[in-house]
Amino acid sequence: MTEQEQFALLESVSENTTIFDAYEKAFAVLEDDRARTVCASVSGGADSDLIVDMVTKIRPDAKFVWFNTSMEYEATERHLGYLENRYGIKIERVRANYPVPLAVKKFGYPFLAKMVSEYISRLQRHNFDWSDRPYEELLTDFPNCKSSLKWWCNEKGENSRFGIDRWKYLKEFMIENPPTFPISAGCCKGAKKDTAHDFQKSQKANLIVTGERKSEGGARAGTSSCFTGAYDNGSAVFRPIFWLKDSDKEEYERIFDIRHSECYWGYGLRRTGCVGCPFGRNWEHEIEVAKQYEPRLYRACTSVFAPSYEYTRAYWKFRKHKEAEAKGYEQLSLFD
Ligand code: SF4
Repeated sequence: MTEQEQFALLESVSENTTIFDAYEKAFAVLEDDRARTVCASVSGGADSDLIVDMVTKIRPDAKFVWFNTSMEYEATERHLGYLENRYGIKIERVRANYPVPLAVKKFGYPFLAKMVSEYISRLQRHNFDWSDRPYEELLTDFPNCKSSLKWWCNEKGENSRFGIDRWKYLKEFMIENPPTFPISAGCCKGAKKDTAHDFQKSQKANLIVTGERKSEGGARAGTSSCFTGAYDNGSAVFRPIFWLKDSDKEEYERIFDIRHSECYWGYGLRRTGCVGCPFGRNWEHEIEVAKQYEPRLYRACTSVFAPSYEYTRAYWKFRKHKEAEAKGYEQLSLFD
């Protein structure tokens, strides 16, 4: 991009300093001589639409890639075609090393949240007995599960991110209903992370561009910078829209006339990605949407994630019951 074009572009976003700063940083990082091979990951979601828009303006020679976990909306695939036409790019479709149905069989099922699944998985690997005993006593019986036992016993204090009581009544539920199927966060690693890593390596990409935003929370909240790693060892990761809040994103969409996937404006979803992933807060709603618009996917996710769905529903039912019970006691004692 010529200096004049850069200036015109910055001028078009100058009213919004967050977008302006994001573009300035993007020019600096993407046009850096060390950024020899740029690889932008496209999910087909709203944030990745902004990434495609930004990167094609600054580095039209970048490689664009979409990882197919096999649980993707057909609408997402159609949207990739739209992006290719609009921006004159080719988005490479790469099949996951372990497509989700295989990944859950090999590693275990996602349940509630990544961290929860990770701890449960470790406990399951050591044949934990799901008993309510003091930490020291459990550690004697299961000496290789220190961090997971700390989670199980809430050793990090009340409401810590690393304690089971972050999920109300989950411990009580699991004591009464020990899981009878393998739980794990490995599905994401097998279907997404490792696949992305292998692809980037095969392309000799030394700058990876992703669409994470800090305000989205979750694992992203733990990262504090839009740029991490180093060009030299191929680990540089750049997140051009990291600091954009929802309102900035909306403004960006307006300025550059961004059109998102049908998943948003047609199906009314708030996120795309793997349909009905049990880690998603709204998987019940997502599978209802899939039933209506993409019945093949509905059949797939209700079959692939069946044990996890059943266990999750049982947990929420148990929790609601306990909460109602606790409320009843409260009212009763107030009345007394
Ligand atoms: S998002 Fe969910 S379904 Fe998709 S790979 Fe990760 S854990 Fe598996």
